[in-house]
Amino acid sequence: MSNLFPTYQRWEIEPERAAGSVIYGKDGLQYLDFTSGIGVCNLGHRPEAVEHAVKDQLELFWHVSNLFPQSIQEEAAKQLAKASGLDFVFFANSGAEANEAAIKLARKATGRTKIITFQQSFHGRTFAGMAATGQEKIKQGFGSMLETFVHLPFNDLEAFQNEMDCNTAAVMIEIVQGEGGIHVVTSDFIKAAAKACSDNGALLIVDEIQTGIGRTGKPFAFQHFGIEPDIITVAKGLGNGLPIGAAVGKAELEEYFGPGSHGSTFGGNPISTAAAAATMKIIFNEEFLHESASKGKLLFELLHKELGCIECVNEIRGLGLMAGIDMKIAVQPILAELRKAGLIVLPAGEKVIRLLPPLNVSTEEIETAVCILEETLKNCTITA
Ligand SMILES: *Cc1c(COP(=O)(O)O)cnc(C)c1O
Repeated sequence: MSNLFPTYQRWEIEPERAAGSVIYGKDGLQYLDFTSGIGVCNLGHRPEAVEHAVKDQLELFWHVSNLFPQSIQEEAAKQLAKASGLDFVFFANSGAEANEAAIKLARKATGRTKIITFQQSFHGRTFAGMAATGQEKIKQGFGSMLETFVHLPFNDLEAFQNEMDCNTAAVMIEIVQGEGGIHVVTSDFIKAAAKACSDNGALLIVDEIQTGIGRTGKPFAFQHFGIEPDIITVAKGLGNGLPIGAAVGKAELEEYFGPGSHGSTFGGNPISTAAAAATMKIIFNEEFLHESASKGKLLFELLHKELGCIECVNEIRGLGLMAGIDMKIAVQPILAELRKAGLIVLPAGEKVIRLLPPLNVSTEEIETAVCILEETLKNCTITA
């Protein structure tokens, strides 16, 4: 009998070890991992430089508390600020906590409470993250929600203009909705939303937890659109597998997060921060990002070419190395078939297959994955 709460529907593969894009199962089989631990291991499993940085920090100190200055936090914060064009960083341990920090900061800085978020969005499982999330199934059974949030249809400019006003503290948005089914924001919408925020004195919070740290071919996904968010939140890929999250904000927000205003015992833990600094050093490099963006291009070319005409495939969407195959049928049984064929992928909602390969995935691995997808999806039948 398991002593774990059954909060997760587990797959049948138990990993024994993992390296690069491959998980070696206790069943003696090898699997191509196109999940990256749900968008976390963006450099693949156990990248050497990150492993070294972690081992080096392990031999210095593991935890001393945020009462001490820690240069490893300064270093990671500088990298985040430089890559995002923002100024100050608050370190947390997860995505949900990064969003909590952003929501608290936005409410305090504006003195307002209303926050606009979107249908199908996902912002985490804490009480504020859950309330911000635009999916009913996440909230069921948990009683009344934090009343701060208004959920609008994604990419609907008219609905947005009707709701945005001078009582709005912030707009919180994903550039590509990840958990909600790989829906990419339109350029018109995000640009108009950014402008409306500044016109109304509201803050633009971009949730980059899944899209950030190189996932879409740029350091952060908002950078595809030439907008300037007031706050971004990151987590997942930041530590390449070590737990860390961050809220990154503009200089004007400094005074609202003064001593005692917010905090976290483990936030900015030196081991995780060392992993983050080493991860960013590799990813926030023009050549690396260029290479990864061209892998993304190849992935989408092959997906369109090999899967585009398959009957049960509805649409292929995404950005960079964040891809969704929208199916006409439920995907859970298909995911099991794909695992049997050696490829591990994610769902995003009921009918979307989500691919999040490592950013340094090889051309051959992309070809293999698309080949397995084609073989499996062409045998699917639509049963109504
Ligand atoms: C995963 C995710 C979160 C929550 O992150 P946790 O680390 O699981 O708390 C929030 N927002 C987005 C967009 C995510 O993908």
